[in-house]
Amino acid sequence: MSHVSGRHFLQIPGPSPVPDRVLRAMSAQVIDHRGPEFAELGLKALSAVKTIFKTEQHVVIYPASGTGAWEAALANVLQEGDRVLMYETGHFATLWKKMAEKLGVDAEFIGGDWRSGADANQIEQRLRGDAQHQIKAVCVVHNETSTGSVSPIADVRRAMDAAGHPALLMVDTISGLGSIDFRFDEWGVDVAVSGSQKGLMLPPGISFNAVGHKALEMSRTGGMRRSYWDWQDMVDINAKGYFPYTPATNMLYGLVDAVDMMLEEGLDTIFARHQRHAAATRAAVRAWDLEVLCNHQGHESGVLTAVLMPAGQSADHLRAEALKHYNISLGSGLSKVADKVFRIGHLGDINDLTLIGALAGVELALEKAGVAHSKGGVGVAMQHLADNVAPGIAA
Ligand code: PLP
Repeated sequence: MSHVSGRHFLQIPGPSPVPDRVLRAMSAQVIDHRGPEFAELGLKALSAVKTIFKTEQHVVIYPASGTGAWEAALANVLQEGDRVLMYETGHFATLWKKMAEKLGVDAEFIGGDWRSGADANQIEQRLRGDAQHQIKAVCVVHNETSTGSVSPIADVRRAMDAAGHPALLMVDTISGLGSIDFRFDEWGVDVAVSGSQKGLMLPPGISFNAVGHKALEMSRTGGMRRSYWDWQDMVDINAKGYFPYTPATNMLYGLVDAVDMMLEEGLDTIFARHQRHAAATRAAVRAWDLEVLCNHQGHESGVLTAVLMPAGQSADHLRAEALKHYNISLGSGLSKVADKVFRIGHLGDINDLTLIGALAGVELALEKAGVAHSKGGVGVAMQHLADNVAPGIAA
């Protein structure tokens, strides 16, 4: 393969580009994970990630992808035959449901059209109908990465409380955390699942469960047979900064620096940056005369924008042309929307010029792929950015 000049544009909705500072932090020599130096690193990493989840309760870190942390969340509190209520926001909600079924859990779906986040009212109605409290948990995907829709988690909590239902609230914020606001304690979430490779700007490889006191208590006497995923084993030894097995040491170096960077920028500034870039992206999509997949106002994702192709046009062909000619990776459509949508990731370590470059890559690729569209989306996005000054930058 010959050399390709310039930086690759990794504009998929995770893994997101890893900042050089984080890469440098990770290139440190491995240390003894049972020695005193490690304890300091372990405590720092655990405390750092709690600030991002906005929790004073426990967070456990697994050397696993997000899927592992999904399984851990289910295995620690549910038993075979237990019923859970899930909401069909898209591909990832569907995968989580399939996993629950494989584990023997009776997973009930509230159907969705993949164009919005969860509807808290429907959840409330279903819970009101469950007078016997057979539903043990409500599972919702915060940011549905396959569609670019956000579920209103605080509303879901309010709905559960309004129904007077004791089910646990379990939230997948694998692609939300660190990019859009998430408040574990304030929103009364019982278990949250996340991963390293999205808003936290790390490579893939570690994942998280934030665990509330009620869920931890339930796990002590309940849950499925488990060993590797057991929260209590983790929590006990984490108290001193250690792990029950060999941790992903260099990922923890990266995590500490990534969180430092996030706190230096400010979480609110980061969230506002993501919203601003998402709004500029949607303005570009509209100017191209294309359609944003999420059609529920207020549920549009700050993390990514999924774009519907005109009928009869292949999203995969467009993405292939974008990669071949402009060295940009765009996200593919998954399962039900395969080849029908492409996804523009605008999360993590990006700035205005990264976004404009990415949108220019899309506009050029639309032309190359022969997709009918109106020109000028990039200009419209630029104007949006010019009209809406970034927070933290003097006008
Ligand atoms: N849930 C969501 C919302 C995701 O975006 C992903 C991955 O993109 C997953 C779950 C699965 O995580 P992983 O691929 O890290 O196992």
